[in-house]
Amino acid sequence: MSENKIPYKIYLDENEIPKQWYNVRADMKNKPAPLLNPQTHKPLKAEELYPIFCKELVAQELNDTDAYIDIPKEIQDFYKMYRPSPLIRAYFLEKALDTPAKIYYKFEGNNTSGSHKLNSAIAQAYYAKKQGLKGVTTETGAGQWGTALSMACSYFGLDCKVYMVKVSYEQKPFRREVMRTYGASVTPSPSTTTEVGRKILEAHPGTSGSLGCAISEAVEVATKTEGYRYVLGSVLNQVLLHQSVIGLESKAALDKYGVKPDIIIGCAGGGSNLGGLISPFMGEKLRGEADYRIIAVEPASCPSFTRGKFAYDYCDTGMVCPLAKMYTLGSGFIPSANHAGGLRYHGMSSTLSQLYHDGLMEATSVEQTAVFEAAEKFARVEGILPAPESSHAIRVAVDEALKCKETGEEKTILFGLTGTGYFDMVAYQKFNDGVMSDYIPTDEELQKGFDGLPKVD
Ligand SMILES: *Cc1c(COP(=O)(O)O)cnc(C)c1O
Repeated sequence: MSENKIPYKIYLDENEIPKQWYNVRADMKNKPAPLLNPQTHKPLKAEELYPIFCKELVAQELNDTDAYIDIPKEIQDFYKMYRPSPLIRAYFLEKALDTPAKIYYKFEGNNTSGSHKLNSAIAQAYYAKKQGLKGVTTETGAGQWGTALSMACSYFGLDCKVYMVKVSYEQKPFRREVMRTYGASVTPSPSTTTEVGRKILEAHPGTSGSLGCAISEAVEVATKTEGYRYVLGSVLNQVLLHQSVIGLESKAALDKYGVKPDIIIGCAGGGSNLGGLISPFMGEKLRGEADYRIIAVEPASCPSFTRGKFAYDYCDTGMVCPLAKMYTLGSGFIPSANHAGGLRYHGMSSTLSQLYHDGLMEATSVEQTAVFEAAEKFARVEGILPAPESSHAIRVAVDEALKCKETGEEKTILFGLTGTGYFDMVAYQKFNDGVMSDYIPTDEELQKGFDGLPKVD
């Protein structure tokens, strides 16, 4: 089929929503290193995770052999409310850049939570309900995960307690109200409602909080409250599994038109959207069936892939969670308060960390003013006001397309547009007022985080 027959939006039919998630770990020769018990440093057994996570999700977390896992009918039904999400050919952006590159993006912002996070929230809420739990606890940074989870919990009639990083709680009151509208309770973190929160407040009075702190608080509440478990919106293997729906749909849509991307780009916070987007493509790469250039994009102010260490680390500041082997800045790392754009987690998915370590993907970091410049350009030509997180991917997609302009190469670029930025207007305001600045941590600052890494032999 000729190129110019490709529509602006490639939609799949409702019955083309994947019926199985794809588990890329099944095709990895070097599996991600196992989670370790934070006290004994021995690999965790499933039973040790049961007080924290639902049983079925523990099974998914530890499963690195089954390539396909059925999506339960109830989750497939919920997906129909907002999936398949459109795969868009960025004709207007291509024209604005005057590039021979062909740019596609998968848009995950078409639901009230405004991001891809709902794909995993609904799955995690479903398994909690199925296990007969009363509710779940979680943390949220920018607020997208908390919003997605509160929607999912209200759908299944579960209670939802959200610990929201204090700086976002204050900057994003409307996010908080969306969560409360869906019935969640929202507490700014660190808080005095938990032991670990009180400890962190004592050690760092006036802290604006971090994801790592909020995780510790949410885990403490889950493990101390009857009928509750903890759920996490990124980083974990199970979350990457659920997010594979993004990549599976993208691939199905491109396959319809015989399009094969040369470069696949995604922003990386904890790695879930990127892991989900690339998974079927990475599967082909791992099985030797195709090759793709895959690029993770992270903020220069929180550079876990590009400047972090590949080591076992705590997943949270309070050091109560299992240890994961990942690219990390140390669980004590808190990005500069001037960093506006999300993607502020200190570590990275252990699956993506292993793939990166094995040279199967690349990573790059970008500064936030350059990210917002790309966001503004994109909003003006493609019509969608992107989330700052997503705009990291836009930045690099634009840069790659501009390289094609120089070389005349007609590369096909696919990137993940993970969400909309309507709740990020404080950050956009800073950018519009010309007062946004870039902050790159020094080696000395990063060293402080590395000094806190646990010694694991
Ligand atoms: C949470 C979020 C991200 C980053 O999280 P990952 O787990 O790395 O995908 C990116 N974009 C948006 C819109 C988000 O809400």
